[in-house]
Amino acid sequence: MGDKVIRTIGVLTSGGDAPGMNAAIRAVVRTALGKGLKVRGIRRGYQGLLNEEIIDLSARDVSDTIQRGGTILQTARCHSMRTEEGQQKAAAICKKYGIDGLVVIGGDGSFAGAQRLAYYGINTIGIPGTIDLDIACTEYTIGFDTAVNTAMEAIDKVRDTSTSHERCSIIEVMGRDAGYLALWCGIANGAERILMPEEHDYNEQMIVEDIQACRKRGKKNYIIINAEGIGDSMNMAQRIEEATGMETRATIIGHMQRGGSPTCKDRVYASIMGAMAVDLLVEGKTNRVVGYQHGQFKDFDIEEALSMKKEIPEYQYDIAQRLAL
Ligand code: ATP
Repeated sequence: MGDKVIRTIGVLTSGGDAPGMNAAIRAVVRTALGKGLKVRGIRRGYQGLLNEEIIDLSARDVSDTIQRGGTILQTARCHSMRTEEGQQKAAAICKKYGIDGLVVIGGDGSFAGAQRLAYYGINTIGIPGTIDLDIACTEYTIGFDTAVNTAMEAIDKVRDTSTSHERCSIIEVMGRDAGYLALWCGIANGAERILMPEEHDYNEQMIVEDIQACRKRGKKNYIIINAEGIGDSMNMAQRIEEATGMETRATIIGHMQRGGSPTCKDRVYASIMGAMAVDLLVEGKTNRVVGYQHGQFKDFDIEEALSMKKEIPEYQYDIAQRLAL
């Protein structure tokens, strides 16, 4: 627990952007203003902090943003923040601008930065904002719901044409290190195969044999959801077409999954998490992350949150395979 009185709250978005980040920023700004605090927005994540890209935020500055994708504060990755020198400088800049409480909206990496700032005396609270759902202390991360629905709708469209032409379709979704988007799309789109970074040792020969068996059973298409972390979709399509004789096309959905107007769920969760982050700072808490677990919004120690490991639920993966019969 920090012992200082919070007068000015800073807010930044960091790492990959996620739909719903604006709803979180809005909630931070309006909750803080409602408590009589001053709010400063930091542009372009930690890089903007180091460059002193700091602006005052009023209630009107966040008007008309709850429904907008992306982040009005912009985001960036910042190598210097990983160094002691960068972290000390960032903390000194917060102090220079009177920022005594900082809300960091981002993923695991961003929380590691927040933890360092807490170490150097800035009270910090993290909000999980990532489309990857890969933060262990929380069952929900802002942006996942929008991203997974965007991908699902795109895959439905590819599936239509895949059925018409009796093709195999490999559809690549985001997720460099985490397969949640792939798993959820796999179930929601009724895919025959899901390839996730957690299961790197997938057997391509088995897929080829399965495609051949499915064709014999009269299946009109074959959908493979491939996570970005496995990648190689174009070459994979060529290899599968050569081995099976079935026309095979790869579609990479890409950054479309990051954008778009946030779903109701993302807006509501982001609003609650944003407000809660300010409440925690005002209570004097620091070095914590807001999360959602067992139906409740809670806060966790950042260190504890960063040390937890999130596994893909084997049972859900197994169900996806069983339903692809
Ligand atoms: P996502 O994975 O969704 O893109 P993220 O927050 O995990 O989100 P990263 O690129 O890992 O994204 O981290 C964002 C920024 O946080 C980095 O560019 C860096 O400035 C800072 N950061 C990452 N790791 C550390 C660390 N160990 N110590 C201090 N700062 C860090």
